[in-house]
Amino acid sequence: MTTPTSPPPLGPGVPTPAVAFEGDPAGLATRFAGGPLPAGVARRLEEVCATVTTDGETCTESARDWWPLSVVWAKAGTAPARAGAVARPGSAGEVAAVLAVCNDAQVPVTVAAGRSGVCGASVPVFGGVVLDLTGLSGIEAYDDISLLVDVSPGTFGDRFEAALRDDHGATSGHWPQSMALSTVGGWLACRSAGQYSTRYGKIEDMVAGLQVAMADGTVIRTGGRAPRAATGPDLTQLFVGSEGTLGVITSARLKVRPLPDAERRAAWGFATVDDGLDACRRILRRGATPAVLRLYDRVESGRNFERPDHCVLIALDEGDPAEIDGGWLVVDDECRRAEPLGEGLVERWLAHRNQVADLGQLAAAGIVADTIEVAASWSGLTAIYHAALRAVQDLPATLAVSAHQSHAYRDGACLYFTFAGRPDPEGAEAYYRAAWDAVVGATLERGGGLSHHHGIGINRGRHMAAALDGGLQVLTALKTALDPRGILNPGKLGLGSPWGPPPW
Ligand SMILES: Cc1cc2nc3c(=O)[nH]c(=O)nc-3n(C[C@H](O)[C@H](O)[C@H](O)COP(=O)(O)OP(=O)(O)OC[C@H]3O[C@@H](n4cnc5c(N)ncnc54)[C@H](O)[C@@H]3O)c2cc1C
Repeated sequence: MTTPTSPPPLGPGVPTPAVAFEGDPAGLATRFAGGPLPAGVARRLEEVCATVTTDGETCTESARDWWPLSVVWAKAGTAPARAGAVARPGSAGEVAAVLAVCNDAQVPVTVAAGRSGVCGASVPVFGGVVLDLTGLSGIEAYDDISLLVDVSPGTFGDRFEAALRDDHGATSGHWPQSMALSTVGGWLACRSAGQYSTRYGKIEDMVAGLQVAMADGTVIRTGGRAPRAATGPDLTQLFVGSEGTLGVITSARLKVRPLPDAERRAAWGFATVDDGLDACRRILRRGATPAVLRLYDRVESGRNFERPDHCVLIALDEGDPAEIDGGWLVVDDECRRAEPLGEGLVERWLAHRNQVADLGQLAAAGIVADTIEVAASWSGLTAIYHAALRAVQDLPATLAVSAHQSHAYRDGACLYFTFAGRPDPEGAEAYYRAAWDAVVGATLERGGGLSHHHGIGINRGRHMAAALDGGLQVLTALKTALDPRGILNPGKLGLGSPWGPPPW
């Protein structure tokens, strides 16, 4: 038993681009069409929103995220898109007013927050207005009796957690690797998962209610009045994961926990991925929920822990000692046939868990790389792991492909693949698509899910029809009902738009 780990130092509290553009952002060619706003719209926006910018640099910088393919473009002097204007509201009222203007003029509005998305979700592919929500920041209210917090959507994750800890002795338990790059609203819009999700759940498990500005500027509240309400379908969950296509989250009520008192850590080595996955499954089946339970294949065990001879399993739990001790006995018991590797590997993981690969350096060396997270029930998981690896290895340009299990549940888990290849420069985009199609194809054919926590954005849109088993029709109907003029983040989630089909 040790003292719980302290959070890493705070980040800058503003969006951090993955790489600098090669060239002056204002003058770069763009991969997706855009264009200036219709006459008079910028002036109308200025009347209702404190900060509206139309300068080329801001409109280009605000129109990109961390999508790794766009890093390849950036190194080649191409921007993903350019907005006609960037509006930075200072209140939920200003958000609603900006939406009302854009709805009236039928101008696309794409919300951008931390811009740490990795699928191009916040790229304004048809131009229009980028709605920068990072001006809406901070904790609005805290209820210690009920362990509920109201937080503004543009609050960066590390600042939110620091305020919870320092001012209220509480934690969200949500620790995405991008903690300092991403915001609470972005987590909700993408169904984010933190590294401690096996104990705390994903963001959709933490949300109690939302305030949402609809496309026409109407503001509504969902949930939040009482736990587990039986007042029809759960409207909160309608907006969670909608990636800014159905409404704009202007405030969130989240469930939090008291700060943990104690922590337990251990690592084991398994001979094969199949053995390690089976141990994880048995741990969850017996009801244990260690906060962190991550299994790396041999390639990643070698890369991350210098243990290529094993499939390394990292386990960590935190909480009230009386609560975690029983679960830890289960973890220990189910790992008894594996080789104990000591706590040092967990410390090593903790020290590196927020580090990010230098995508710019890779792109400059002609390497196309990305990560792909999918999920599946335990009965299909190992088959997906092996089939997806084979499918990417079969692509001639592939240099390496590997995976780890990053989030585990009683019914299944998330597999997180990493691939890297060196295609001919003119074949970079084609190789990138092929690698993605290989993993997604292997997953969907075996009954797995398209995304566990990075979401859809531009990149996965082409797979939505297959992944939703007829549900894309329902999603389209919802979109039409809630956003009849189609202004909210057009071109995403595989949905059609007044400006044409998804462009990639
Ligand atoms: C290095 C790195 C590590 C990462 N690790 C993780 C991880 O561990 N777990 C994880 O889940 N993700 C991870 N991500 C992905 C990313 O951080 C998440 O998708 C995050 O939730 C995005 O938040 P953001 O504030 O940056 O949103 P943005 O990228 O700005 O926007 C993402 C989408 O959400 C929409 N949106 C944002 N705010 C709102 C709002 N208030 N209302 C409506 N729509 C909104 C945008 O329109 C867009 O469609 C990682 C990314 C990077 C670069």
